[in-house]
Amino acid sequence: MKFKSTLTLLLLSLLPVHSAFSAETAGPRAKHVFIISFDQGAPAGIEKAEMPLFKEMAAKGAHTWEAYTIVPSLTLPSHTSMLTGVGIQKHQIDWNDYQPDKGLVKVPTIFGLAKAKDKGISTAMFVSKQKFEHLNLPGTVDFFDFPAKDQTCGNVAQEFASHVDELKPGLCFIHFGDPDVMGHQFGVDSPEKMKAFADTDKALKVIRDAVDKAGLTADSVFILTADHGGHDIQDKNGIIRGTHGSSSTEDVTIPWVVWGKGVKPGFTIHAAVVQYDTAATALWLLGVPIPEDFWGRPVISAFEP
Ligand SMILES: [Zn+2]
Ligand SMILES: [Zn+2]
Repeated sequence: MKFKSTLTLLLLSLLPVHSAFSAETAGPRAKHVFIISFDQGAPAGIEKAEMPLFKEMAAKGAHTWEAYTIVPSLTLPSHTSMLTGVGIQKHQIDWNDYQPDKGLVKVPTIFGLAKAKDKGISTAMFVSKQKFEHLNLPGTVDFFDFPAKDQTCGNVAQEFASHVDELKPGLCFIHFGDPDVMGHQFGVDSPEKMKAFADTDKALKVIRDAVDKAGLTADSVFILTADHGGHDIQDKNGIIRGTHGSSSTEDVTIPWVVWGKGVKPGFTIHAAVVQYDTAATALWLLGVPIPEDFWGRPVISAFEP
C-alpha cells in the first residue's frame, strides 16, 4: 500500500473543503443508506484479518484503502465528523468519552438534515459505545440503540436484525467497537484483534442478511469505514498495547468502501476521501441538499452517472 505524507494528511484534515454540490437537489439515488463503522479498523489490519464479506464488498463495490480521518484521530471527534460533515474545529466535540454535562453536538447531524428534508424518513443508530449519546439530538434519531449489557458486535448486529424490518431505516449508523477494545488491550496486530475483526465480519453478515430479509437490499447503499487506525506502544511494564489519536499515517488511514445500488462495480476510488465525506455521500445518496458550510463532498466518482 502506498501512503501519502503526513503533511498532506494534516492539510487534508485541516482544510475546509467547500462543496461544489451544495445547490444540487437531484432526487434520491437510494432509499436506504447504512453506514457501518469498524472502530480502529485500519486497512493494514483488515488486510490481514479473516473478513471475507468485507473484502468481497470492497472488491465488488468501490473502495479506497487510503481514506483519511481527522486529527486528533479519536473515536468521538472522528465519528462526529463522519456524521456531521465538518471538522473538529467546527463541530467542537473535542472530548472522547461520555460526559453528559458537556451536552449535545452543536452542529446538525446528517440524521437531523435528512429529517429536515423529509420528516417521514426513518433514522437509527446502533452503537457499542455510550458516548454516541452526544450525537443523539432530540427529534433526529428515531431509534437509538446502545445495548447496556452486551456491546459486542454480535449483539449490536442482533439488535439491528430485530428492528430493521419495523424501522426500514432510510439512514442508519452501526458501530462495531470490538477491534478497538482488543487493539488497545493486546496491540493492533494481535491475534485477539484479528479475532475481533473476524467477529465484525460475521456481524456484517448478520446485518446484510437482515437487510435482505426486510426486502431492502435492492434500494440500499452500504458504506463501510472506520473512525481511525492505530499503532503499538509499550506500556510502563513493557507490554505492547494499541493506541491512536496522532496524525501518523497508521492512525489516520481508514478504509472507505461503498457497495450497493448504483455503485460502480470493482472500482478503485482515486479521489481523496476524508472522514467528513461519508456524511456528504450519505446526504447526496438520499437526495438531501448538502449545507453550504459542509466540509465534506460526496464521493461521486464511486457511483454510476
Ligand atoms: Zn475509535
Ligand atoms: Zn480506541
